[in-house]
Amino acid sequence: RAMPAPTYLDNLNPEQREAIVTIDGPVLVLAGAGTGKTRVLTTRIAHILATGHARPSEILAVTFTNKAAREMKERIAHLIGERVEGMPWLGTFHAIGTKVLRRHAELVGLRSDFTILDTDDQLRLMKQIIQAEGIDEKRWPARQLASFIDTWKNRGLDPDNIPPLEAKAFGNGKGGDLYRAYQARLKTLNATDFGDLLLHVIKIWQRHPDVLADYQRRFRYILVDEYQDTNVAQYLWLRLLAMQTKNVCCVGDDDQSIYGWRGAEVDNILRFEHDFPGAKVIRLERNYRSTTHILAAASHLIAHNESRLGKTLFTEKNHDDAEKVAVASSWDSEEEARSISDEIERLQRDGHKLNEIAILVRASFQMREFEDRFVTLGLPYRVVGGPRFYERAEIRDALAYFRTTCQPADDLAFERIVNVPKRGLGDASLQQVHGLARARGVPLLAAAGLIVETEELKPKARSSLKGLVDSFTRWRAQLEHMPHTDLAGIILDESGYTEMWQNDRSAEAPGRLENLKELLRSMEDYESLPAFLEHVSLVMDTENDPSLDAVNVMTLHSAKGLEFDTVFLPGWEEGLFPHQRALDEGGRAGLEEERRLAYVGITRAKKRAQIWFASNRRIHGSWQTSIPSRFLDELPEPHVEVIESKSNYGGYGRSRFDQMEPFGSTYATPGWQRAQKLKAGGRTAGGYGSSSDDYAQDEYDRAPGEAQRGRFGDAAGG
Ligand code: ATP
Ligand code: MG
Repeated sequence: RAMPAPTYLDNLNPEQREAIVTIDGPVLVLAGAGTGKTRVLTTRIAHILATGHARPSEILAVTFTNKAAREMKERIAHLIGERVEGMPWLGTFHAIGTKVLRRHAELVGLRSDFTILDTDDQLRLMKQIIQAEGIDEKRWPARQLASFIDTWKNRGLDPDNIPPLEAKAFGNGKGGDLYRAYQARLKTLNATDFGDLLLHVIKIWQRHPDVLADYQRRFRYILVDEYQDTNVAQYLWLRLLAMQTKNVCCVGDDDQSIYGWRGAEVDNILRFEHDFPGAKVIRLERNYRSTTHILAAASHLIAHNESRLGKTLFTEKNHDDAEKVAVASSWDSEEEARSISDEIERLQRDGHKLNEIAILVRASFQMREFEDRFVTLGLPYRVVGGPRFYERAEIRDALAYFRTTCQPADDLAFERIVNVPKRGLGDASLQQVHGLARARGVPLLAAAGLIVETEELKPKARSSLKGLVDSFTRWRAQLEHMPHTDLAGIILDESGYTEMWQNDRSAEAPGRLENLKELLRSMEDYESLPAFLEHVSLVMDTENDPSLDAVNVMTLHSAKGLEFDTVFLPGWEEGLFPHQRALDEGGRAGLEEERRLAYVGITRAKKRAQIWFASNRRIHGSWQTSIPSRFLDELPEPHVEVIESKSNYGGYGRSRFDQMEPFGSTYATPGWQRAQKLKAGGRTAGGYGSSSDDYAQDEYDRAPGEAQRGRFGDAAGG
């Protein structure tokens, strides 16, 4: 069979080429950001196909997100100049796991049409199980159980083999029993959760060697991108598959391991060399993405980590006019958003595409000010990997409370929160309210007000609904008499909504509280609650059209693997980045993971990177000075340019500062170096977040939309 001239091998460096053409035997590509790891994987698949070593259906390729899988498919097709038929096994671990499980569901007691529970269903189920065991749900919330079970599943642990001490750590020693009960319930419901998509498959392969052998034969070549962020279960899964042919190629970068808190284990890199002795380890050292300045900044920063495998990087993108990495400061986060938006508009005027610009934040609440600013300016933007700020579940809930207060006829809003937090209002009670509303032709809240005056509802439901109706009446009466920001806080407190999240011990709860605080903060710019709600509906109305040329906004976690000409990195302040929670809970390891996140952030930039920090943050309605992130100290001076913020000295920046005595005199010229001096002088300003124990990995971080929802999203369809 005639070989097509492999043009896809043009322009690759010798190491890349070696990683591509060494298709037999285990290969580990260990290399820094932007060295072409993903490109190597893609080209390797093209090579395997073009040389006839395997058919598309015989290649298993794992990507971190569904988006990455789609892009890879397109690139392969482009490389070999024909449409790639199928590639049915190119996807995320979850997508592939789902597919395998559907074929053999009966082997673990499921039917092939099993459903995959979303987080809400999962929690409801756990709640039932906790109650059934007679355990105090307030003390042992379902979300905490969920996170325990999640961790066990990430580590490939069944109810039968979790360490006894861990099993005892939840629910008065009943952690293990609850896990077992949960699995049993899932089976009766013909359902799985995310973790099962891998665990069940591992179990099937372990117990049914014939099935395993079939897959081992089928997958002649196995490839894995972002290998550093695989967890133990994923590793076990891979090892089972690859053990036979050993034609497995993993690419990764230990410096970009940023999902440790979700169970990823960098040690999988070491395990690989151990389990596949003689594996060819290829290092790529040339970075094709970034300028010298950007690469130097990132390399210098990450060198401060102790636990790394170590590698060197160089780039030849050495233009005389290359911009240094800019470090800029602002008075506060609002000014930060304004200044960065100005920069973006300037870039746009100079002919830069918005698509090539990204803002990478540490925590999702930071997005709010940017989104508001962009809407005001009419600057198109998209949020990648998760919902936009005002579309987040906790924000929608809070808004529903405010809407019901201002517009008592807003049935959708009322329905959304009538039983959030749980008020013991079952479907039956709500049906009755609906019935009355229809019969009388009045809104739900009004109907609720009527029905609680009758004997129709059960006493418990009646009193709890009456409590809610009375609350709305009270809040509404206060609309005119109280500053709306105070009222908003009162509504969230009195309704029990804030408390619901405070009692929630899951990993994402603190991030949600953070977002709620940001919501209250954002109101201060508006005259009244209705004015604010109007603003929000305008923001929500803006289009999120993927084909539009738009600025990309996302968390650092969601930015993995991506690249942009220009990257803005706001909020580099102690407590926010590195995140206080990571430091408190993770100690040195936590700090190092934060630093890797910073490395990921900087290395997304091709041509320019701008790092920002605000000198002040508003927290709980009061101002706190913040200390610039220690990561700024870790940047190499020759490659960094400190930009003095113009607005600090005139215009709004100045006037704001004037209002802000007593900070004013000390912090009038924030500037990075000045702040550094203050720090060196033993000044210990609180640091953003130090006063708050609410700091945490937020929901995004925990479940970057693409990475988690997306991971199985494709699979759920088929
Ligand atoms: P990350 O660690 O961030 O995931 P990576 O190692 O996967 O990075 P790629 O995204 O594959 O790197 O490549 C980075 C950029 O460099 C891409 O734009 C890619 O097309 C380009 N590139 C890679 N190899 C070469 C090459 N040999 N010649 C020209 N450009 C290249
Ligand atoms: Mg990559």
